[in-house]
Amino acid sequence: MKTILTGIRSNSVLTLGNYLGALLPMVRLANAHSKDSHVNIFVPDLHSIISDVDGDLRQNTLRTLKYYLAAGLEVNENVHIYRQSYVPAHSELCWILNCIATMGEASRMTQYKEKSKGQESCNVGIFDYPILMAADILLYDATYVPIGEDQFQHIELTRNLATRFNNRFGEIFTVPAKTADQVKFMGMSDGIRIRDLLNPEKKMSKSTKAENSKIMLDDNPAKAAKKIMSATTDSFGKVKFDMWSQPGISNLLQIEALVNDVPLQDVISTWASETRYGELKKKVASSVSEMLTIFQEKLADISDGEVFALLESGEKYANEVANAKLFEAQKAFHLR
Ligand code: ATP
Ligand code: MG
Repeated sequence: MKTILTGIRSNSVLTLGNYLGALLPMVRLANAHSKDSHVNIFVPDLHSIISDVDGDLRQNTLRTLKYYLAAGLEVNENVHIYRQSYVPAHSELCWILNCIATMGEASRMTQYKEKSKGQESCNVGIFDYPILMAADILLYDATYVPIGEDQFQHIELTRNLATRFNNRFGEIFTVPAKTADQVKFMGMSDGIRIRDLLNPEKKMSKSTKAENSKIMLDDNPAKAAKKIMSATTDSFGKVKFDMWSQPGISNLLQIEALVNDVPLQDVISTWASETRYGELKKKVASSVSEMLTIFQEKLADISDGEVFALLESGEKYANEVANAKLFEAQKAFHLR
């Protein structure tokens, strides 16, 4: 059985962009494949501490796991839910991989360059986290790792490290699929990129300061509707899907399609003859507030106990699999 592995950092509440662009596609993929594949869903809490955490990390982690369930994740015996820091083999294998990775290849990572830019002193975790990510993947022989485009370079790094290790010590690790095949597996031609509501040239990000630029999953639905109503558009007076010339309107069309799970083309046709943006905004505002209402109701119904029960079996499974793989890597270096 192949393994699909995915995770989202739990630094803060997620945005509508994280939900539509990452969480929901991952949940759909998991549900589509969990009959014949292992699906590992983990919260990379050790990755969370490379930057500031908003609130209590343990509570955030629990909430992130509830998000998956509220988004419709169907759990069966092949779905394994765990927290990274509860499986110490991740840190152990990271150290071993540190000793075969080079400074050059780690320094080339765009995420490292971006995250360290402008910082007077950058923590070593920011530099090393792609290697920890390689350990996260290789411990479970994962073939598919559905993630955003910003992480593709780390998949290539993981492939290089696995291949180097295998060449030196024999076939110990499964080399994950190439990024092009990862994208194909996710069934996407392009990644989804929800835009910032005030500056639609940029993507919506949870770390953006301006409250009205982003919709958070815990926003009061009426407040979220107001944010949509005040979204930046343009003065063309024409509803057209064109992310270059009309990113604000295009973003609203895309949100409307994704939130209602209908083809974008259908939404575009429905609104093609509209000249006033107010009507479109009202419709999108009501779709988003309805979606949030339902999502938040589902979230409130999931108890901590339910999540802890899943973690208990998931972490038992993860430790067994990860320790067995770690042991092989330790033997390769004559540590065992
Ligand atoms: P930060 O500002 O802290 O970087 P972020 O909102 O960019 O936060 P990440 O934690 O970097 O979120 O990413 C979590 C996941 O959400 C990733 O898979 C990423 O590709 C996806 N994602 C982030 N922003 C968007 C967006 N605007 N549209 C679609 N997907 C997104
Ligand atoms: Mg980001």
